[in-house]
Amino acid sequence: MFFFLPESPVRFSEQNSQWLVLPRSPELRDSLTSRGEKGKDWLRFTAPVLQPKFEAVLSEIDIVINELHYTLNNFKSWMQPEYVDKNLATKFDDCFVKREPLGVVLIIGAWNYPWQLLLLPMVAAVAAGNCVVIKPSEVSAATDTLIAELIPKYLSQDCYAVVSGGAEETKSLLLNRFDHIFYTGSQAVARSILQAASVHLTPVTLELGGKCPCLIYGQVSIAGVARRLVWSKFFNAGQSCVAPDYVLCSAATRDALLPELRQALEDFYGKEPQTSPDLSRIVSARHWARLMELLKRSNGKVAVGGESNEDDKYIAPTVLVDVSEDDALMEEEIFGPILPILNFESLQDGIDFINRKEKALALYVFSNESSVINKVLENTSSGGFCSNDGIIHMTLPGLPFGGVGASGWGSYHGRWGFETFTHRRACMLRGWALERLNGLRYPPYNDNKLGW
Ligand code: NAD
Repeated sequence: MFFFLPESPVRFSEQNSQWLVLPRSPELRDSLTSRGEKGKDWLRFTAPVLQPKFEAVLSEIDIVINELHYTLNNFKSWMQPEYVDKNLATKFDDCFVKREPLGVVLIIGAWNYPWQLLLLPMVAAVAAGNCVVIKPSEVSAATDTLIAELIPKYLSQDCYAVVSGGAEETKSLLLNRFDHIFYTGSQAVARSILQAASVHLTPVTLELGGKCPCLIYGQVSIAGVARRLVWSKFFNAGQSCVAPDYVLCSAATRDALLPELRQALEDFYGKEPQTSPDLSRIVSARHWARLMELLKRSNGKVAVGGESNEDDKYIAPTVLVDVSEDDALMEEEIFGPILPILNFESLQDGIDFINRKEKALALYVFSNESSVINKVLENTSSGGFCSNDGIIHMTLPGLPFGGVGASGWGSYHGRWGFETFTHRRACMLRGWALERLNGLRYPPYNDNKLGW
């Protein structure tokens, strides 16, 4: 994914809708040349680009700027000592929680929002007073190059470092001792991260993924559901950890939903989504092939979309119906523009279905009825919960962002990130008062001193 900071080697030309990349590294130049037309000084990419400018600004630039403002406005109050309730024995003491930096923290990022997933935790880690090493994903190579260039340019190299590389380099990096590891990525790789962390007993935050359910039940405006569902699912071509992974609804709701989904897709991306400048592409040929394989193995019926183009790493926004619980699409997180719809009739069936799966990173419920929303909220568990929309809950820095169980450990955003990257030191500053009272705990002991 590409960005356009003032001094970045990457620019977006409004005039002709082209990304212009000034290649700095030979590897980047080679990998990009295969996709674009080589100019004199610039590589030029005509549309389609990997991600539309609007989506990149919203999900990568603005969210980080908002986090920065929020943190700058609040971190002085977050770092104040927090005084706690006292008892008789500590009445004259100072008893408080002191926030301390952890030391050197390692932040490992994923490729799907390569800027946000590194810089958002970095804002919290820096505000908490830590030194930071960041490891961008090798899959988003252009961002990796850009971050490696910009961080040393603007931040002290004594405190902040960028290490580039893939699995092998990350494994070597993890041989070092860190004071905290903040990892965003897949559940499979999280296991290796935990193994490496166990050698030094390093605490770890895991920001993982999984299958985020989207349940539709009871009275609700189906056209409204369709628009919000299409936006949250097909934003970044479904390559969002909080994208709705599958829909659960009754057969009647599905029948009403399908034409509205078609309409919303046409409104957003036109009759031929492949030509839309507003639809992202799949990040690499390998990821494209994985999604196509899932589609091939699925026994579901394609109700919308289904078209694809390998050269363009394009997969049309695709909706499948008649998908069963043991379908290939239900085996793993989809992480692409494919939306299976599964049927259930009673609300309890839907809740039971969700509870048979691992706890999700996000759970979505669409309904006009607050009793339905509350019933799902009270009878399920997930990292985040949002009714009548998708994704949007994660943009509010007041809410913790993170998973539970297999979808992740720990959280960040706003104060929650500051807490993740600080140690809460329990402090009791005692004076010399009440020494007679202390006599109650000194030997020789007797039952009278226990007050029994
Ligand atoms: P990934 O696990 O393949 O890679 C993540 C990072 O780990 C990369 O920096 C990569 O270089 C490194 N890595 C890869 N293999 C490694 C190994 N064997 N040992 C050590 N490090 C290794 O994940 P990905 O494909 O980049 O991201 C997709 C996954 O991330 C999805 O499951 C998605 O849901 C999840 N995700 C979660 C969040 C969140 O905030 N919870 C956000 C974005 C993505």
